[in-house]
Amino acid sequence: MHRFEYYAPASLDEAVALLKEHGDGVKLLAGGTDLLVQMKEAGLHPPAVVSLHAVPGLDGIEFDEASGLRIGARVDVASIESNDVTEQRYTALAEGAGIVGSIQTRNMATIGGNIANAAPSADTAPPLAVFDAVAEIIGAGGQREVPVIELFDGPGSTILTTDEVITGFKLPTPPANTGSVYQRHTPRKIMDIAAVSVGIRLSLDNGKIGEARVCLGAVAPTIIRASDAEEALTGQAPTDALFAKAAELAQAASSPISDVRGSAEFRRHLVGVMTKRCLDIALERAQD
Ligand SMILES: Cc1cc2nc3c(=O)[nH]c(=O)nc-3n(C[C@H](O)[C@H](O)[C@H](O)COP(=O)(O)OP(=O)(O)OC[C@H]3O[C@@H](n4cnc5c(N)ncnc54)[C@H](O)[C@@H]3O)c2cc1C
Repeated sequence: MHRFEYYAPASLDEAVALLKEHGDGVKLLAGGTDLLVQMKEAGLHPPAVVSLHAVPGLDGIEFDEASGLRIGARVDVASIESNDVTEQRYTALAEGAGIVGSIQTRNMATIGGNIANAAPSADTAPPLAVFDAVAEIIGAGGQREVPVIELFDGPGSTILTTDEVITGFKLPTPPANTGSVYQRHTPRKIMDIAAVSVGIRLSLDNGKIGEARVCLGAVAPTIIRASDAEEALTGQAPTDALFAKAAELAQAASSPISDVRGSAEFRRHLVGVMTKRCLDIALERAQD
């Protein structure tokens, strides 16, 4: 590993000031499960690393009915997996958090790092998007909030500026009669990243689909919402034929590449199979 300056600021202001001072190439460090691997094995040589470990205000999972869920950016995904509220009300997110790497990885890996790393296969990204999550961001220019689905602008790339830190995520309270699910396909059963991932949320209203979210991972340069599928589902009574149609529309929205995890054709096929399967599961959960 190359030499670098290491900073452990004790406040967000200090962290932002350090990011601004060091400019391009400076890196934030949270759990380190992506960053340290990239520094050791993938030729990333940041001149300076700014640790978030001692920065207050980045922890905690808080929920209330009126304002919804807030998750601090430094919360590890193991805590999200095992939280009662996420498990019951934001099931897709608990499922996404629960399949990141191994137990050891999940105890280190933060949700902020998973999103900021911007892998199209990141397992918490589609679940956050199906709950219309918004990222809270602070930087030298002040604070802003950006929907998670709009954070990414390519593989490994976000719209964050060099001096910005994600401080947390806000998820509105899902409507009553909501079911959600997140599934991924990996060539190996564990310790692999998604070749295709699907996050679904269905919120029923008088037996019809009031709100539908279909989010796909690993089949485009960023995670994507399958908007045509969502539109086709909204306002309709849930039927097998409707779900088959939505699965076709999700396939059409995907633009996978061929790589070691599977051919583009195989991945597009999986998008259809998995979308249909996840719609069935989300419906069952919404009706529980
Ligand atoms: C063995 C192994 C298995 C893995 N398996 C999976 C898997 O199955 N699914 C999956 O999705 N991922 C997987 N990963 C990747 C990784 O664990 C996750 O992406 C993790 O959530 C990253 O979080 P972190 O806290 O470790 O981030 P770090 O490595 O500390 O940071 C990652 C990036 O995000 C930036 N960053 C961190 N926090 C912030 C913040 N608050 N604001 C702005 N930028 C920030 C950093 O500068 C860096 O660029 C795996 C990694 C390993 C080593």
